[in-house]
Amino acid sequence: MIFISTRGGEKVTGAEAIVKGLSDNGGLFVPEKFPQVSKEEMQEMLYMNYPERAATVLHKYLDDYDKAELLKACESAYAKFEGPDPAPLVRIEDGIYILELFHGPTCAFKDMALTVLPYLLRKGCDICGIKEQILVLVATSGDTGKAALEGFKDANGIKIMVFYPDDGVSSMQKLQMCTQEGKNVNVVAVKGNFDDCQTAVKNIFNSAEDAEELKKYNTRLSSANSINFGRLAPQIAYYFSAYFDLVTAGQIEMGQEVDFSVPTGNFGNILAAYYAKRMGLPVRRLHCASNMNNILTDFLAKGCYDVHREFYKTTSPSMDILVSSNLERLLFEVCGRDEKLTAERMNKLKSEGVYEITEKERAAIAETFDGGFANEDEVVETIYDLFCDTGYTMDTHTGCAMKVANDWKRKNKKDETMMVVVSTANPYKFPQDVLYAVTGNDVRDSFKGVKRLHAATAMAVPKSLAGLKDKTVRFKTVVTKDKMFDEVIKFVK
Ligand SMILES: *Cc1c(COP(=O)(O)O)cnc(C)c1O
Repeated sequence: MIFISTRGGEKVTGAEAIVKGLSDNGGLFVPEKFPQVSKEEMQEMLYMNYPERAATVLHKYLDDYDKAELLKACESAYAKFEGPDPAPLVRIEDGIYILELFHGPTCAFKDMALTVLPYLLRKGCDICGIKEQILVLVATSGDTGKAALEGFKDANGIKIMVFYPDDGVSSMQKLQMCTQEGKNVNVVAVKGNFDDCQTAVKNIFNSAEDAEELKKYNTRLSSANSINFGRLAPQIAYYFSAYFDLVTAGQIEMGQEVDFSVPTGNFGNILAAYYAKRMGLPVRRLHCASNMNNILTDFLAKGCYDVHREFYKTTSPSMDILVSSNLERLLFEVCGRDEKLTAERMNKLKSEGVYEITEKERAAIAETFDGGFANEDEVVETIYDLFCDTGYTMDTHTGCAMKVANDWKRKNKKDETMMVVVSTANPYKFPQDVLYAVTGNDVRDSFKGVKRLHAATAMAVPKSLAGLKDKTVRFKTVVTKDKMFDEVIKFVK
């Protein structure tokens, strides 16, 4: 499979797309065409376990990787998940299911891809003949950093370094990162906010001087962020898997269409669902759920993407995003894969903070996508309602997606299409907010939140979060942003 850039100019293999991450002109790598999964293949996938389904989907795109090896990588990645099924479906009521993607090592859906990415990157370097040591640099506002650390821990020939804003992550997230184990990991706090942190990391990536300096230590940079195709591909698999599980459970017939409602930030998760649809999975509509930062809701309704708006810090922080980078891949598809137009729009977004699409393009997107959002009160109400009605507890991000799914069901009473709400985080990752939604009680300490939430819901506390309290804090360094590269050099020396 050949990959091209959304902004034109480049053609690369799967391994190259993953090793490079971003194309030279700033565009994102997309498959030259969508590989198809035939009816016969779907029938076969019905009887496969999760790693087999994942490897089948991955190999459709990454045919320069060995299929048996992909399967081995998926098996060892998903063996790190708690419980027998890495992506279980939970029945809520007739017509509504929740797809739980939070059973990985860090309790958020990013584990679905970040447990596989180290293999894809390591092997990609081997395929491309890259001999240097790889340093994965990450700027994080929370979930990605921990998932990347856990994924790359003790990976062969790869080091990973995560920068986070000293005051910009939750106490639970900070503790998760600073107690990280592994010989090849480093975590550094940066004075400032997430943007300072991310800009400084981007500057290191773009600096020829820094690259020269790193070469002295036989080191080459790589990224693990969500625009890397290696993050997207493993996410496509769970849409297939959820579909087959519904068929196996007798909830739908093979071939019958289903809807997904997806809590969306960077547009990576929901884009994977769109890719699954383009590969032939019977997906009808995709409900794009936002929190109060509802720039995507407005975009889907009006066809204008405008970042000139207030930014809210919400209880679903992983969706507090104004520029959803993966949206570029969808835009590229709906404008007829026009590379020049895509580049123009993205440049306009960068320079003016706004771009528009045509009414025809907007309508083409609306054939598949709906947008909706939940404000903070609605998140609380949705979590509380579901808990009271069914005893099921969901986290704040999932609360947004459930609210949007409920809105759709209310407006389309006769619609009997199966709705799958995608759940992206374990409720214990945001214990205080979920506790408040379920009981109305406020606690300040996260561990007290975990304890009280357990008392209220009797839901099992995941081992990785329960054990956090007794772990040793290994990383305490705090630097100003102009000293970040010095830390990088100290680490690779
Ligand atoms: C990252 C994340 C999201 C957003 O996913 P995107 O792929 O960026 O749209 C939603 N919920 C949680 C818990 C996350 O960690």
